[in-house]
Amino acid sequence: MVAQRLVEAMRDRDAAGEWRITVLAEEPRAPYDRVALTSYFSGRDPEDLALGTPELWADPLVRLVRGDAVTAIDREARTVTSTSGRVEHYDHLVLATGSKAAMPPIEGNDLPGVFVYRTVDDVAELRGWVEEQRERWSRPVRGAVIGGGLLGLEAAGALQALGAQSTVVQFGTHLMSAQIDLGGGEALRRLINSLGVGVRLNTATTRMRTNRRGTVGRLDFADGGRLDVDVVVVATGVTPRDELGRAAGLEVGPRGGVVVDDACRTADPFVSAAGEVACIQGACIGLVAPGYAMAEIVVDRLLGGAATFPGADTATKLKLSGVDVASFGDAFAVTPGALEIVWADPVGGVYKKLVLSDDARTLLGGVLVGDASAYASLRPMLGRELPGDPGQYLLPEGGGGGGATLELPDDAAVCSCNNVTAGTVRGAVTEHGCTDLGAVKACTRAGTSCGSCLPLVKKLVTAELEKSGITVSKALCEHFDLSRAQLYDAVRVTQLRSFTDVLARFGTRPGARGCDICKPVVASILSTTAPGHVLEGERATLQDTNDHVMANLQKDGSYSVVPRIAGGEVTPEGLLVIGQVAKDFGLYTKITGGQRIDMFGARIDQLPAIWKRLVDAGMESGHAYGKSLRTVKSCVGSTWCRFGVQDSVALAVQLELRYRGLRSPHKIKLGVSGCARECAEARGKDVGVIATDKGWNVYVGGNGGFTPRHAQLLAEDLDTETLVRTIDRFLMYYVRTADRLQRTAPWMEDVEGGLEGVRAVIMDDALGIAADLDAQMALHVDSYEDEWAATLADPEKLRRFASFVNAPATPDPSLAYVAERGQARPATAEEKNGYDDGRTGAVLVAGTTLEVRS
Ligand SMILES: Cc1cc2nc3c(=O)[nH]c(=O)nc-3n(C[C@H](O)[C@H](O)[C@H](O)COP(=O)(O)OP(=O)(O)OC[C@H]3O[C@@H](n4cnc5c(N)ncnc54)[C@H](O)[C@@H]3O)c2cc1C
Ligand code: SF4
Repeated sequence: MVAQRLVEAMRDRDAAGEWRITVLAEEPRAPYDRVALTSYFSGRDPEDLALGTPELWADPLVRLVRGDAVTAIDREARTVTSTSGRVEHYDHLVLATGSKAAMPPIEGNDLPGVFVYRTVDDVAELRGWVEEQRERWSRPVRGAVIGGGLLGLEAAGALQALGAQSTVVQFGTHLMSAQIDLGGGEALRRLINSLGVGVRLNTATTRMRTNRRGTVGRLDFADGGRLDVDVVVVATGVTPRDELGRAAGLEVGPRGGVVVDDACRTADPFVSAAGEVACIQGACIGLVAPGYAMAEIVVDRLLGGAATFPGADTATKLKLSGVDVASFGDAFAVTPGALEIVWADPVGGVYKKLVLSDDARTLLGGVLVGDASAYASLRPMLGRELPGDPGQYLLPEGGGGGGATLELPDDAAVCSCNNVTAGTVRGAVTEHGCTDLGAVKACTRAGTSCGSCLPLVKKLVTAELEKSGITVSKALCEHFDLSRAQLYDAVRVTQLRSFTDVLARFGTRPGARGCDICKPVVASILSTTAPGHVLEGERATLQDTNDHVMANLQKDGSYSVVPRIAGGEVTPEGLLVIGQVAKDFGLYTKITGGQRIDMFGARIDQLPAIWKRLVDAGMESGHAYGKSLRTVKSCVGSTWCRFGVQDSVALAVQLELRYRGLRSPHKIKLGVSGCARECAEARGKDVGVIATDKGWNVYVGGNGGFTPRHAQLLAEDLDTETLVRTIDRFLMYYVRTADRLQRTAPWMEDVEGGLEGVRAVIMDDALGIAADLDAQMALHVDSYEDEWAATLADPEKLRRFASFVNAPATPDPSLAYVAERGQARPATAEEKNGYDDGRTGAVLVAGTTLEVRS
């Protein structure tokens, strides 16, 4: 990680191109975010963890050599030699070799089934092993983690996420003993237990024994106790990778690490060290923020600067979902005269402590367990006087949010991973014109590593925008002060059924008529709170262009028509109907990415006739025009495929028929794959379902398009009924609470708690609205009708499908087509109007019903 930061900093600052950097990496991949390694278990790809933009690695002054470890340094010749035999000369060498996971000398620590937790390969192997054990046993897989520190607890959470039981075995008196005190440790133990993770304290593991298959099967403890296991993760700390430095004769610290001064230089003027391998100010620091600071210092020095290491910020926050723990500053109150203020609620599982100077004014440190909401606000106040009574920061609801946040001095560090101060965040708004959190993150890098400072950054940005007179308004538009989510709730609760009533009750101005923003939004809201036809009465006037005629407007003014092909399954008869309709109306046909057939070039006045043919043949609207469910893509699944473990087509058809016509803040796509090979690319969808041999895994929040995202794992091995209920709730929660035109991926980022927050609402009913979501989806399913069939049966609705209102039987003559690859396509302007050189265009000016020959 530190090497990547160094390269990035050098390319940012070395405008003259003085330095050419070669990165020699032992791992076979580009640098990645180790801090976020555990997210691999919630469905993230290793590629999602990659650090550095493609442009950085493509920079001509940067060379990244992967999968080639350095084996020796020749300080005389100033060369390094690698495993592959490569010899590289250097003008300056930076050691950023990090650490390796420590392995205590316990008998049996090399047995199959014993893992460490440091690299992508480690977690991939651990995952594979647990999945293999799950196949093997009809009982739950039994896991143990040796080590109850930050990493051990994260690993225990990972084991649980893989469906294994886990017990944390801790040598010391309490969990996270390097960061929190005994009181906090006790509260933490209770929280960890409440997640179903066992904890053994004061326990030394003496031996790991094999089972009959020769893999790890049991842990023996010094107190005579034992624990049966199928998998063990050892997380007992790290050892600096200082072997190259040692062999090259560089000084190493008493507990390892290449010794450097405050400028990160070793005794050799041509060698520096940065990150976990460096022993700086007498210690190696196992956190990324000090490593990034060292990378910046090395670059500064190489470019002639005089930067020095300011000392390490060792504040830490546990990244285990459902367990809020933070520790910062002098958490153990070792400063002479330090005072401790403690607030504990054993029933609620909360323990909070502030450490203050002897006059009880200056904040020296703190421990927050069970509720760390005040962490982001308090940590930047380290070493400063707290405004007001310190006790207010410990009371429930954090207290420390508002006042303290807004008063933060400009030089207070907000994001310690990237060394961003409150002043820099404010400057991003006032000087660089950033107007939202995303822009501030991109501009300053704040919150882009561990993310624990994001709530604070958001508050600062909002406060600064407000100060600059930019109202951070959630108002939908000038006609409604409410956000879409607020308006949705208001309409739902009041059971209003028309736009006029909604505007009268919640609008900002009496007598206003609404606009292109609020009208389609209210139409969409009403479609799920009070279902009805899109073209019924006043609702017809609210729809945007495509919904207005239930077809997709194309660039030449013609429309496209897409009948539903649920799950991508279509009979030969269905294909013949579509083919014949396209032929008879001269429509261009193309297979879509959603496994259906799009027919282009229909005039507005042809739409009813086309749909009459389709509806008579048993087809229905595919809602390709709506902000609604589009398709449920599927692979052939177990019916045909040799690898399939479930019937993915049947499920896709079931889901598509269930959610067809569901109007939402943006379009929704689903996918179902019949096995882990994922041929339906389900993880690129808003909801992706992947078959397992026990049921279905469901992933949520995947998006294609401009900002592609992989969906994240929400739940595993669900039976079909539970799966459908889970998707019902996910979709309805999204429909209710997302912003206008917000797709599921950004919506999930906005939901408090992200994926975990969504999971809490859907799976654990944390807001008590699950039954309500279920009922609302049932209402949608029960009230579904095919929009086109209903339109064909209603002469009033059909009146809108005319090219000219005053001459309904006359087709639009401006539509012109030329033949290409055997089909009709819209004529270009030159083809219609003639070329500059006087040639006339070869064009047939007519409707699309003329047959086109190749
Ligand atoms: C699961 C997990 C969670 C973590 N969470 C946090 C957190 O929340 N907050 C935090 O601050 N820190 C956290 N950390 C620690 C953080 O990841 C490290 O502090 C950071 O990665 C250190 O960066 P580095 O560049 O010094 O070392 P590394 O990231 O380990 O990089 C060193 C690289 O050098 C390579 N290398 C070693 N020897 C050679 C050689 N001879 N030739 C070529 N290449 C070599 C290694 O293979 C490695 O890829 C976490 C670590 C893990 C594993
Ligand atoms: S995802 Fe699996 S079941 Fe579906 S087609 Fe691919 S290999 Fe076959």
